[in-house]
Amino acid sequence: MLILGIESSCDETALALVEDGKVVLSSLIASQIATHSRWGGVIPEIAAREHLEAIREMYQQLMSTTGKNLSDVDAIGVTQGPGLIGCLLVGASFAKGLAQAAGKPVIAVNHVHAHVHGALLGIEAPHEQIFPTLALVVSGGHTNLYYMNSCIEFELLAHTMDDACGESFDKVGKMMGLPYPGGPHVESLAQKGTPERVPMPRMVERKSQLVFSYSGLKTAVALALKSMDKTGHRLEDIAHAFQEEALGQIIRKLGIALGMRPATKSIIVAGGVAANGRFRELMKRATALPVWFPPLKYCSDNGAMIASLAYFQHCSNPATAALEWDVFSRYPFETLMTTLGTKNNEKQSIP
Ligand code: AMP
Ligand code: MG
Repeated sequence: MLILGIESSCDETALALVEDGKVVLSSLIASQIATHSRWGGVIPEIAAREHLEAIREMYQQLMSTTGKNLSDVDAIGVTQGPGLIGCLLVGASFAKGLAQAAGKPVIAVNHVHAHVHGALLGIEAPHEQIFPTLALVVSGGHTNLYYMNSCIEFELLAHTMDDACGESFDKVGKMMGLPYPGGPHVESLAQKGTPERVPMPRMVERKSQLVFSYSGLKTAVALALKSMDKTGHRLEDIAHAFQEEALGQIIRKLGIALGMRPATKSIIVAGGVAANGRFRELMKRATALPVWFPPLKYCSDNGAMIASLAYFQHCSNPATAALEWDVFSRYPFETLMTTLGTKNNEKQSIP
């Protein structure tokens, strides 16, 4: 079964063709980092416009490089959310347009869940050896821990009470004057830091509490940066101390979750922060269970992970997966209108 996956929830326009949820024929990703780095963060309106400019040409490129056309596609999987509303609308409208033209079903996919499938795409082991698994999605927008009995069952055990882990890397990078997105730059700086030179608070220490928090850590970094003249701490040492706690917190919480779910057979780590080398090292040391990370190309947003989850949703229940779905129904109408800067009576003019 051939699925076209479409992703446009934030600052990557991404399309992929995936056979049977596993074989990626082609995966195209157009990053908007160069555009948004000027501003030090994603500007939603600009992001939506860039998706609109890129998506049609990327679709044509995808089809020509794979030698496929729309009639070969069995279904279209598209990110339903969460994400920036204007950006989601571009992908959703494009998917619905294609679906309508060719009489194909649209499969609405949760973007955060799909990140787990980014990791699954790189795992050779059969699902019986992977599930039940504890899956961490550590990205720019989420720090979620799921218990999964199968590749389509997501039981949310923990999430962040404030900033996401990747977001905190980006904000710390910004405070340190590093380019956007800060994550990889903070990691390189941290590699040059001396361990245990800068004290950092330990976040959410209550052992029974499965929750993440990053805003206090961000404040601690801000204070450490302010007092560098007095303390003599180097930027590298502050980056190192921040990274150790940002990641260490996840390792501690994972330990609690493993105690709560002894049937767990493996750990999956997905999302942009899964690209962090120190994270990979700490995770492997933390447990004797197999730990799976996505191949680097499927760590951040991509269309292959969307197509893959869409496939498994479709296999599990084709009737539900193929239901007509309206992006407008996910958001209160008022919110949508405010975001798009239109008046209530203009509902009909929105694509
Ligand atoms: P995503 O939200 O999944 O698209 O991933 C983007 C997020 O991952 C951003 O917050 C990045 O800063 C973060 N990120 C990417 N590479 C790294 C890294 N090597 N270390 C820490 N964070 C990273
Ligand atoms: Mg993402």
